[in-house]
Amino acid sequence: MNTGTKLIKAHVGAFETFRTYHSHLELRKSFFDFFQSKKHEIVKSASVIPLENDGSLLFTNAGMNQFKSLILSSTEPRRVANIQKCIRAGGKHNDLDDVGKDLHHQTFFEMMGNWSFNDAFSKEEACKFAWDYLVEVLGIDSERLYVSYFGGIEKLGLPEDRECKEIWKNIGVPSHRILPFVAENFWEMGAAGPCGPCTEIHYDRIGGRDASSLVNIDDSVVEIWNIVFMSNVRDSSGKIYNLGRNHIDTGMGFERLLSVVQNKNSNFDTDVFIPILAKISSLTKKNLKYNGSVSSQEDAVFRLVADHVRASTIAISDGAIPDGTGNGFIVRKMMRRSFLQGNSKLGIDRFGLSDLVPTVISTLVGVKNVYSEVEKSSDKIINIFKEEETQFWKTVDKAKKMFDVGANENKSSTISGRKAFNLFETYGLPLSVTIEMARNLGKEVDEKEFERCQLEAQKLSQKASQFKLPVFAKDFPTHSDKEKYSYSFENGRYAFSKVPTTILQVYQNQEKVVVLKENEKGFVVLERCQFYAEQGGQKSDIGKLLADGRNVFEVESAKKLDNGSVTVLFGRALEPIQKDLRVEQQLDEKRREGVMKAHSATHLLNWALQRSGLGNGQKGSSVDCNRLRFDYSTGDDSLDKSQRTEALKHLEHILNEFIMKGGLTSVIETTLEEAKKIKNLQSDVKEDRIGDSSVRVVTLGSGVNVSVECCSGTHVHDVSIIEDVAIMSDKSMGQNLRRIVAVTGEEAKKCREYAEKVFEELSSTEFKERNKILKVLKRNLFSETFLYSRRLIGSLFLLPIRLGYRL
Ligand SMILES: [Zn+2]
Repeated sequence: MNTGTKLIKAHVGAFETFRTYHSHLELRKSFFDFFQSKKHEIVKSASVIPLENDGSLLFTNAGMNQFKSLILSSTEPRRVANIQKCIRAGGKHNDLDDVGKDLHHQTFFEMMGNWSFNDAFSKEEACKFAWDYLVEVLGIDSERLYVSYFGGIEKLGLPEDRECKEIWKNIGVPSHRILPFVAENFWEMGAAGPCGPCTEIHYDRIGGRDASSLVNIDDSVVEIWNIVFMSNVRDSSGKIYNLGRNHIDTGMGFERLLSVVQNKNSNFDTDVFIPILAKISSLTKKNLKYNGSVSSQEDAVFRLVADHVRASTIAISDGAIPDGTGNGFIVRKMMRRSFLQGNSKLGIDRFGLSDLVPTVISTLVGVKNVYSEVEKSSDKIINIFKEEETQFWKTVDKAKKMFDVGANENKSSTISGRKAFNLFETYGLPLSVTIEMARNLGKEVDEKEFERCQLEAQKLSQKASQFKLPVFAKDFPTHSDKEKYSYSFENGRYAFSKVPTTILQVYQNQEKVVVLKENEKGFVVLERCQFYAEQGGQKSDIGKLLADGRNVFEVESAKKLDNGSVTVLFGRALEPIQKDLRVEQQLDEKRREGVMKAHSATHLLNWALQRSGLGNGQKGSSVDCNRLRFDYSTGDDSLDKSQRTEALKHLEHILNEFIMKGGLTSVIETTLEEAKKIKNLQSDVKEDRIGDSSVRVVTLGSGVNVSVECCSGTHVHDVSIIEDVAIMSDKSMGQNLRRIVAVTGEEAKKCREYAEKVFEELSSTEFKERNKILKVLKRNLFSETFLYSRRLIGSLFLLPIRLGYRL
């Protein structure tokens, strides 16, 4: 027999035992049905935007994120199953730069999983469920399945998981396909915290062979199901203890399983991607086709566009908005990458990708309202795409002009890396475009310098992610909130007490250290903490720790540990500091006062928007020293530009009247139940908050018209302290969604004075000259008043309000 026939035979053999085809809708349904029949509660996917308290995470990136509190503190047995939307982009699990290059990386994916909390089912049941679902329900050929289990680590006193091995034997898996592994089969949540052995089911994509030596080695054998037996806990010194109760956490990538049941080699060949790739093909001018090749650059862009538009669609439907920070920045980056690459590599029209959104949505809806929120917000998503496309190409064209000016003046044959980086940072112009433009002029870009600039910028932005600490809130006594609200008003200014306390622990580079040396950066946990940690949109306090009156630690930011009861300070030691040192806390008072003004002003803005009928509820906010950003829904909104300008002028007027009138602030603590009964409460009381039994209700102003909101932020004691609010911009962020940027206190005064000056100057100028002057003035305004906020560029509104112009 020649080898050709052998090959055909092998294929036919494999084909005969083949599993049933399931569409992605059928697969979802069968999963839910199966676990429902096993008495599991089917839980909806949590939002991909994590709850505000989980400071370290940009996006929900694993099925278990929403169950953390159940794992750490519950005792009640529960069986749960869900399919969780996950995004891995930015932060620790960053798949962004790999997407497109191979056949499997995705930023957005779905994670199927079932859980047993507090011994709700046994190890044996967990394995049996998994096996039965794959083999009995999906009809996957059991001959192609391999299982791995934990082989033990003697050093840590962790024995081989023989029980697990026996379970698989009893299920009927032949011994040579039950394989022990060590590192691969011990799961940990972090450097400290819950952990335990796990067992995995692997699938051989080729079949008709013994692939046991290829498990965890070769890409043709893929892991499809991971079952974690969470029975241990590791403390911060590295020791492992018994958790005292058992949880089981299982996870299975939806798209990968789909590729298995649909007999495809890649997730991109399954029916969740095929319609998207076909639509992309129809958007390309040359009618290019996706061929699933790893080496073709065009295919890579097909995959990148499909993935990024999918991820952005999901993120926006859960409330993310493309902008300059946090997860909004990642969404913007993904959208812009797909616009640029789609246009330059596939010839898609500049404004073509918003047309792809409906197709993406059609692949996500359809069964049991799994992602009904995506369908509901489809108009909003499409509009945000359109706006982002317009904005992006505008900035690219602008950046190109900037580039041309610089490049023509510059006689050398190299474009500096710093300049390329500035174009990237300011206009979002990717390096590849700058290189292309330079090439057209016969020049080169100093890419090394670009990288250095990028590294510098990364170091600055790493501050946020450094809050991943090998500690848990439970390792420390709870911080009382009282300290951060303790301040008095004396002689026309706020006085903040310098609360004395003791340093409980210092950390450097994620590790506990005895001493944080002079000039070293690190974390400090105090016994009592007065610093406000970033929460509810309000930025954190900064300040100092003093020992014997000397400044020993510069506090640069403050964040909350996992469940929010402990605050960690990040900053730089000016003198060596260590555990047990007595210190006094000194807030940056001017900044805190500015933040309080802006926060109270945010509540008033919300109140005035609702009262005037312009706004219909808050959608998000960010509060910093004397400035604020407020996103709101508009309801049915049919105002034209001039009507809106008038309405905003009026709104600003109402706000400032309220402030002038003054009125003492009242804060009461009450139960969630009682708060819900308050008639004119403006905030939506979050029902899903776990463990929040009491809420603070903040009332601003006096008389009948008062603003009442639930809020944990810090506020002025009397609204008259705000002095002034000036609205700087109000722009559309999508359908029925707008964003106001405003400044308060001194900043507002400065802006107002400047605008008056401009107004005077312009009214005495010939019409023709006005535009020229405006341009110069606009530049001055930014350099004088808004050096700190580049984000305001392009959204200046105050001048037009006053002048009746559009800049
Ligand atoms: Zn508030």
